[in-house]
Formats: sequence, structure tokens, C-alpha cells
Amino acid sequence: MSESLSAGKEVLSYCNSCKASLAHIIEVMKGNVPHKVKCKTCKKTHVYKDPSKVNATKTRARRTTKKSKSTVLSWSEAIAKVKTPAKKYSPKETFLEGDLIDHPTFGKGVVEKNLDNTKIVVIFENDLKTLVHGR
Ligand SMILES: [Zn+2]
Repeated sequence: MSESLSAGKEVLSYCNSCKASLAHIIEVMKGNVPHKVKCKTCKKTHVYKDPSKVNATKTRARRTTKKSKSTVLSWSEAIAKVKTPAKKYSPKETFLEGDLIDHPTFGKGVVEKNLDNTKIVVIFENDLKTLVHGR
């Protein structure tokens, strides 16, 4: 017998809340496999878990050590993109996004963001700094 599964039908799924394989109602199908199921015991909806697979491979606490990629553009990349000559940094100057800045303390940096025309976020070689401008 090959009873096709579909939403609304009952299926045996492992329930993380009940910690047992129990009857669940299929809510969402993904191809021929149940995707979301609702536990008839605790009434919780969760992702379908094949009971046989759960028993076979003990659910190990997954440690996702995602290396947090910095979203900030690297300094060298930013510098390489700039085609204009470096401007001496002064709070009185006004800078635009993409401007190259020559800062007396931090050295060369590139304006990453212009915040409300009074502050700029600048990428320096070792740091990201918020500076005032347009004073
Ligand atoms: Zn349950």
C-alpha cells in the first residue's frame, strides 16, 4: 500500500515538545514529504521529523559556529575604489560617500556612509569611525 500523504492527513512524526513519536496532522507538504505538522497531543506546529531518522541519529545539539563575516567592506577594497584625491579631514568640511579622507590621527579612510549630513562613517585601516562634518 502506498498511501500518499497530503495536508490534513495524519502522520507519525517525532515531537520535540512531547519527546516522542506521535500522531500529527500534516499542515504543509513539501513535495511528497510532510513539511509542517501539528502535534495532536501538544497542539504545536513544527517541522516534520521522520521518527525513524530521529531514533537512528540521536539529535545532537547542533553547534553552528558561523564565522561572522564582517559586512564592512575591507579598507583596502574601499581605498582601491576611490578615484578622487584624499581630502584633509576637518569637521568644517563636508564629505560625501566614497570620499577619501586624510585624517591626522587615523590616516587614510573612505567615507562609507553620510549620516544626516552632520556625521560620516569612515572606514580606516584598523577601525570604523563616526566623524562629524559639515560644521
Ligand atoms: Zn507534541
